[in-house]
Amino acid sequence: MLLVDLNDGVCRSCQSQLRIIAADDATLTVECTNGECADAYCVEPDAFGDGGMKYWPQAMAHFGEETWE
Ligand SMILES: [Zn+2]
Repeated sequence: MLLVDLNDGVCRSCQSQLRIIAADDATLTVECTNGECADAYCVEPDAFGDGGMKYWPQAMAHFGEETWE
């Protein structure tokens, strides 16, 4: 599971931790880890500030291998 560090970004609805559930060339799809919120939405790869670009390559590699076979 790819979790977004709380210092880099949090849920837009409840400020809980996010996990990355999908990625493509232009976006990351994130989901709130708070089960009562469960918000999910797309963000741009640089959405997480200075740390953002560390997530997108990881996500592309992760989902490229495991989801897009
Ligand atoms: Zn939330």
